[in-house]
Amino acid sequence: MKPAQFDYAAPKTIEEAAALLAASNGDGKIIAGGQSLMPMINFRLVKPAILIDINRIEGLDRIELEGNRVRIGATVRHCRTATDPLISEHLPVVHEAMHHVAHMTVRNRGTFCGSVAHADPAAEMPMMTRFLDGTIVAFSVRGERRIPAAEFFVGSLVNSLEPDELVTAVEIDAIPPDAGWGFEEFAKRHGDFALACFATTLRAVGGRAKDVRVGMMGVGETPMRLREIEDIVDGTDVSDMMLDEVAKRLTDILTPNTDIHASADYRRHLSGVLARRALRAAWGRANGKGLDA
Ligand SMILES: Cc1cc2nc3c(=O)[nH]c(=O)nc-3n(C[C@H](O)[C@H](O)[C@H](O)COP(=O)(O)OP(=O)(O)OC[C@H]3O[C@@H](n4cnc5c(N)ncnc54)[C@H](O)[C@@H]3O)c2cc1C
Repeated sequence: MKPAQFDYAAPKTIEEAAALLAASNGDGKIIAGGQSLMPMINFRLVKPAILIDINRIEGLDRIELEGNRVRIGATVRHCRTATDPLISEHLPVVHEAMHHVAHMTVRNRGTFCGSVAHADPAAEMPMMTRFLDGTIVAFSVRGERRIPAAEFFVGSLVNSLEPDELVTAVEIDAIPPDAGWGFEEFAKRHGDFALACFATTLRAVGGRAKDVRVGMMGVGETPMRLREIEDIVDGTDVSDMMLDEVAKRLTDILTPNTDIHASADYRRHLSGVLARRALRAAWGRANGKGLDA
């Protein structure tokens, strides 16, 4: 299909982009990598009056460490996030997640922030941002607004940006250097959207799990941080009995959809399998004993 007619602007500054977005009265769309937006435009699922291309704005293509926070600018591509040393050192679970995102052609254009803005509940970047409690930095003609990830993902493909706001960066706190991490997802083919995905970080203190974080995607309308599961794991020695309890609890609390790819029951079962693997891997890493500890 061919897109409906639209205007195109390529501003050189964030202020100019925000002014164009405000002037469009809700009919403008930011384009970053175009990997999700262009198919939607071609199918006429969206018909923006103007596309505002942020790729010529200087300084948005950086990954920086500011204090303890890693800041990923709005035009940083997936291929860069997947290979950047700041990400692998300070956010190793994100580094791992990036290798499951799509295929090389999509990774060469798609952006971390574009994926977060797109808010697909089966996409890795929103999940990483949500379970690591990142901050979405938004900008409009009114100035900057910082949105906690817990308030950003409102529904499937729905975020809490105002129509005249664009994302300039996503910031995520570095995970503690002594934390272990686990990331497990299942997709029918490598690079496809996952049927389910479980990620975790935790520390091992005196033989017990501490500061546990758990996130999931593909099993709800938004990416999730699961505090109920964190509470089960916290303070334990990550025994098989505890992992059984986690799997059972996930079956009770998750309400995934049935679709052409998998049934809700299959996704619930898969969640328990992925949780066991990811938690074991994180515990092994936290104890410095390799992945089978
Ligand atoms: C074949 C294929 C396979 C894929 N597989 C995966 C996968 O396995 N995992 C995965 O996570 N993703 C996958 N994707 C999606 C891919 O990661 C996209 O690149 C990503 O979702 C959107 O990023 P983008 O930069 O291309 O955004 P765009 O397509 O440019 O924009 C997407 C949406 O976000 C908005 N937007 C973009 N940037 C901003 C901004 N700075 N401020 C405000 N709004 C903004 C746009 O207006 C639009 O509504 C796949 C895509 C394709 C085509």
